[in-house]
Amino acid sequence: MDDSFSFEGFFEGAKKAAYKAMDDHARGEYDEFALHAGVAIERLAKAVLYKLNPLYIASGKVHLSGQKARIYTITATEALSRLSSLNILKVDADLKLLIEQRNGTVHASVGDEAKTHIPTLAKAVGPMLKHLGISDHDFWDRWTSAVNVAVDRLRSEIERGVALRIKQARHIFDDRFKDLPDGVKEKLLQEHQPSSIVSVDTIAFTTDGSLNAVVGTTACPACGGRANLTLRPVTAADAADDFTASALECPLCRLRLTGSAEIRASGADVEKAIIPTSISVKQRSGSPNEITEFCSI
Ligand SMILES: [Zn+2]
Repeated sequence: MDDSFSFEGFFEGAKKAAYKAMDDHARGEYDEFALHAGVAIERLAKAVLYKLNPLYIASGKVHLSGQKARIYTITATEALSRLSSLNILKVDADLKLLIEQRNGTVHASVGDEAKTHIPTLAKAVGPMLKHLGISDHDFWDRWTSAVNVAVDRLRSEIERGVALRIKQARHIFDDRFKDLPDGVKEKLLQEHQPSSIVSVDTIAFTTDGSLNAVVGTTACPACGGRANLTLRPVTAADAADDFTASALECPLCRLRLTGSAEIRASGADVEKAIIPTSISVKQRSGSPNEITEFCSI
């Protein structure tokens, strides 16, 4: 392994990039923020992997020049995927988006979404520090309280917003039954309990045919009926055996939640979601990415 690699090198590099990211955020430069935040996460991920085993960060690509060999390290996405496989870090949709922004494939937003940027960085850094046994303050230093405030503020904003939408959904649901006989609502809810029967149009595949999302059902946090829960693979789609909840939609009360933070704040029990145990897909000839048949067992 290249002598220039060391745990300290990756760790100190991660801190430096994280501080730059915080400066960028303060100036409202969200593209720059995403770049530095992504670099901070990548370096910290490599510090963790390097500490476990220096070989974990080797990409397999070697450049030979004279007597010297240059060994390339894995990409940010690969580093996160390895940490996810080791159960050290969960890679949710927000973190995936941040890494895409860091890679320049997606531009960072300047609106509401920008509020979530610091919490996304903090949420990625936290479990890695925990694994290393290093305190938040030893990493964030003078930025510690600013990071905590951003995380708390976002959490309470999400909780307030979701609580309001749950109330609104309950009113909408109750209004549908106000002129109907007693017991109709209860009967409907009984008939619409979580089950493994889901519709085909919400199963999404990427262009290479790998699974991009799967829809399960869970009890709606507003009306208690059957809500559809979209789950996306945490790691690369073809190797995915771990899913994160990305959307909840209830056809009965029209409650709609997006992202794991909103779903968590709603109290929906994602762990108890029923997902199809087996999926078989028939593709229509001539349009390989269009799904025409789906069954769950
Ligand atoms: Zn509902």
